[in-house]
Amino acid sequence: MNVQDRLIKYVQIDSASDPFTSHPSTPSHPREWDMAHLLYDEMKELGFSNIRLSDNCYLFGEIPANIPDWDGPVIGFICHMDTASEVPAENIKPQIIHYEGGDVLLNKELGITMSNKEYPVLDQFVGCDLICSDGTTLLGSDNKAAIAEVMTMAETLFHDDSIKHGKIMIGFTPDEEIGRGGVYFDIEDFGADFAYTLDDCTFGVYTPETFNAFNVDVYFNGTAIHTGCAKNILVNAVKLAEEFDFLLPQQERPEFTEKREGFYHLHSFDGTIDKAHLYYLLRDFDSDALEHRCDIMRNAANFINAKYGEGRVELVFHDMYRNMKSVIDKYPKVTELVYDTLRDMGVEPICESSRGGYDGCTITLNGLPCPNIGCSMYNCHGCKEFSVIQEMEKVIDMITQMVKRAADMSREDFYRSGQAHTEE
Ligand SMILES: [Zn+2]
Repeated sequence: MNVQDRLIKYVQIDSASDPFTSHPSTPSHPREWDMAHLLYDEMKELGFSNIRLSDNCYLFGEIPANIPDWDGPVIGFICHMDTASEVPAENIKPQIIHYEGGDVLLNKELGITMSNKEYPVLDQFVGCDLICSDGTTLLGSDNKAAIAEVMTMAETLFHDDSIKHGKIMIGFTPDEEIGRGGVYFDIEDFGADFAYTLDDCTFGVYTPETFNAFNVDVYFNGTAIHTGCAKNILVNAVKLAEEFDFLLPQQERPEFTEKREGFYHLHSFDGTIDKAHLYYLLRDFDSDALEHRCDIMRNAANFINAKYGEGRVELVFHDMYRNMKSVIDKYPKVTELVYDTLRDMGVEPICESSRGGYDGCTITLNGLPCPNIGCSMYNCHGCKEFSVIQEMEKVIDMITQMVKRAADMSREDFYRSGQAHTEE
């Protein structure tokens, strides 16, 4: 089956995770099992070994080495089975559109188009074939484009014994979109020495770095009293919250920052005179700089407490995830493999620092080096999400070349180079 038929088949299975689930179980929604069962059957059909589907909906399968006595480091590829739910994610009607420039007509009946003026990324795909939804729903190519690519590569490897490779592990996870995909990922059971998530837009993009992230609950305690006798007594919690927010650097917000700049992001607010609550996302690539952001928040809280009395403001910090670069840097072969493969294909790698987190961060920080590579998915989480068939084919070529190259690595070399780097 070719990659576009696979993607078209997968996106018709509704597997959105549920950000509003009231129970903390994984998967967050039972519909995620439908995708897992479909992939389980397909893995069986293709000839995967040791396929296992965990109680938490993690699906692992193995492509055995076809080199006798091979004992190199095991490479893994990881994709997520769930989709986002910001826009309707059910009854998806995928279509292939040959793009000739200008507007893409997604839905004639409803007059829905996707314009290159609004989405200039389209300009680089003139003459290519896009897979889109009908403009009323998500497509779900995040991350089903990656699943289609990995499964198509697997099919090729099972059918063409002339491609020599070591053992390859494939992992499919639930609940990435709600930030929980890495939590129950059993690294030991997966059994790879290094892995890649395919969860970024453009072919050729490599992401070995993510933010460090803290989320912060800020609680404000006011003193409520009738306005008639409020003078010198009333303390309005909403006004305390407003004052607190003004004490933070106003230019260091997501709307004013880019690239390697960190930020304070006021994510939600609720409040009355008596009680108010602000929820912030604090992000920085540098962990000391993130600590400094936490200190700025503490200073703001101390200022308000000194001015209005102790206990007016309380902060609760939540350590969300950490920049995985320090771990990835210990395994230079992991990065080298991507760079060498792309350059061999005549493509200059685009190294990016991710301004968000994903499964790979958690998995890396839990011990399995797992940076991210681009897999052709655009306008993710919206109704104008699309993938490009010709680009997906390049990704398949890339990961096939990667497994061939990885077959030549020795275990000693893989781990020794890591050691050398650490000692530098
Ligand atoms: Zn994704």
